[in-house]
Amino acid sequence: MTPKLWTESVARLRLLAPPPDGARVIVRLLNNVPDDALADCRRCPSGHYELRFPRPLVLNETSYSLVLLAHEWAHLFTLDEKEEHGPLFGIAYAQCWTILALDFDFPQ
Ligand SMILES: [Zn+2]
Repeated sequence: MTPKLWTESVARLRLLAPPPDGARVIVRLLNNVPDDALADCRRCPSGHYELRFPRPLVLNETSYSLVLLAHEWAHLFTLDEKEEHGPLFGIAYAQCWTILALDFDFPQ
């Protein structure tokens, strides 16, 4: 993926799907995401959110990276839910994915 597409996708989610509490969202690309997770979303003690993604995957796997971005962004809306991937998460994920897919040309 071009860094531009990634940056534009993150900017689009920031604009159209800000977290409910309005806290800042930091998106990091790491060479290694800890805890064997493919990517993760967490609320930091200082009040902002941090989403972490594997840099090689973001640079090389466009559509998969955007699926992961929508997935982790959706967690911003459901971090306090008992069920990690329950119905509310599904709705948030669908909304995030719709925002990203508005004019995305899927690879053939
Ligand atoms: Zn998840």
